[in-house]
Amino acid sequence: MKKILFFNTFSRREEEFVPLKEGHVGLYTCGPTVYNFAHIGNFRAYVFEDILRRTLKYFGYKVFQVMNLTDVDDKTIRGAISSNLKLNEFTEQFKKAFFEDIEILRIERAEVYPAATEHINEMIELIKTLEKKGFAYKADDNSVYFSVAKFANYGKLSKIDMQNQIAGVRIKADEYSKENTADFALWKAWDENDGDVYWDSPWGKGRPGWHIECSAMSMKYLGKTFDIHTGGIDNMFPHHEDEIAQSEAANEAKFVNYWLHCEHLLVNGQKMSKSMNNFYTLRDLLGKGFSGRQIRFLLLSTHYRKKLNFTMEICDKAGQTLENFDNFFRRLAFLTKQNSSGDDAKKITNEALDKFETGIAKDLNISESMAAIHFLTRETNKLLDAAMLSSKGAQNILDTFRKFDSILAVFDVDNATSFEIPDQIMKLVEERQNARKDKNYELSDILREKINSLGWLIEDTPQGPRIKEKKS
Ligand code: AMP
Ligand code: ZN
Repeated sequence: MKKILFFNTFSRREEEFVPLKEGHVGLYTCGPTVYNFAHIGNFRAYVFEDILRRTLKYFGYKVFQVMNLTDVDDKTIRGAISSNLKLNEFTEQFKKAFFEDIEILRIERAEVYPAATEHINEMIELIKTLEKKGFAYKADDNSVYFSVAKFANYGKLSKIDMQNQIAGVRIKADEYSKENTADFALWKAWDENDGDVYWDSPWGKGRPGWHIECSAMSMKYLGKTFDIHTGGIDNMFPHHEDEIAQSEAANEAKFVNYWLHCEHLLVNGQKMSKSMNNFYTLRDLLGKGFSGRQIRFLLLSTHYRKKLNFTMEICDKAGQTLENFDNFFRRLAFLTKQNSSGDDAKKITNEALDKFETGIAKDLNISESMAAIHFLTRETNKLLDAAMLSSKGAQNILDTFRKFDSILAVFDVDNATSFEIPDQIMKLVEERQNARKDKNYELSDILREKINSLGWLIEDTPQGPRIKEKKS
C-alpha cells in the first residue's frame, strides 16, 4: 500500500497515516446544520472530505465515514417557529436539499448520517458520565456545563492558552455557553423561545448542546478512539476542542489520531458565511448556468489547506478547462474507433499515474496531481499531432483518466466518448485525414462532401477532426 501523508492539525506536522486497524479507516466529518441551504463555502469542506475519502479508497482502504446532521439548535428552532412548522418538518426539507446538492457535486455518500434528534439518549448518557466523573455541573439556569478548568489539556488542538482565557478574556464558546466563562453547555435548559422543542432529562426539560452531538455519535459509530476527524478550520475552536475535552474526559482514551482541517472559501478576502451575507448556495450558481462538476472542479483545484477566493471568473475558467478535456477525450475516442498503429502510450501513462498518486498521497497535494494530468495531456497532444498514437494508446490514456477520476470525479470520459459513428463514415474520415496529410486538398474536399451527403458534419479543430451527425 502506498505511504500516505497527512498534515495533522494536532501536531502541525505532516505525518504518515497509519490506521488503527489495518486496511480500515474510521472517518468523522462534521456535517451541516439543516436550517437553510448549505452554501458553497460549506461545500468546499464537504468536497475536500470527499477527495480524502476517495483517496483512501483509491489506495485500498475500506472507509467507514460518519457525518452528523445537526437538526436541533437555536437556528433550527427559530426557523421552525417562524415558519410555523414542527422542528422535524422544518429540518426535513433542508436534509433533502443537502442530499440533492451533494449528489450534484458528485460527493459520495457517507456510510451513516446520524441525526442529532435521534441520538438524544446517547448524549444524555455521555453527559451523565461526565457529571459522575466531575467534569460537568448543573448551573442555576438548569443547564449543564462542562468545566474547562477540570480538563488538564484543554486547548491542546487549537493551542489556545486557557490560563489567560479563564483568567479574564470573555469567549463565546458556542451559542449556548455562559458568556462569562469558557465553560460550554452540554445540556441547555428549555426556555420559552424553544416552543415545543425539548426532551426530558435528569436535569429537567431541555436539549443537548452542539458539541456533545459529535462526541456521542462518533463514539457510537466509530468507537472511543478513531482514525480521522475533519472539518473546516473554523470548527477547530471551540467545536473540536470541546469534542476532545468531552470524549477524552468521559472515555479516558485518546479521541482522534489525525485531525484534518480545510481552509475557507473566501469572497473578496472574507470567509463566505451566512452571517456576512456574502454567500452563494449551490442552487444560486446552478441558476446562473454553472454545472455541478464545474463548481466541484473549482472547489477541489486549490489545495485544501490554502484559502480560495471565489469569483465568477474562476468558475467560468473551471468550466472552460473541463470543456477542453471533453474535446480531448473525444479526439482520443475517435482514435480508438480506428485501427491505428503506433505508440501504446504506456510510458507516459505510467509516468503520469505515478506522479498523480505521489501528489495525492502527499497530504492530498492537488497541484502536483493536476500537474501530472497536464503532463499527460501535453505528451498525448504531441503524439496526436505527429499522428504517432495507436488506437490502443488512445484507449490506455482514456483509461488512465478514468483512474484519475475515481478521485476527482470531474471528467466525463464516458459521456464525451459515447458517440457511435458508422463504419462507413469512419473509413471516409480516415481516408480524408490521409489525404490531408498528403496535402491532397482536392481529394480531402471531395471526401468532406461525401461525408456531408451521408448526413455527417466534419469540423477540423486544432485537436483533430470532430464529427457530428447533421440534425435534419
Ligand atoms: P456549519 O454548518 O457552519 O457548521 O459548517 C459546516 C462545515 O462547513 C464545517 O466543516 C465548516 O467548518 C465548513 N465551512 C463553513 N464555512 C466555510 C467556508 N467559507 N469555507 C470552507 N468551509 C466552511
Ligand atoms: Zn462536529
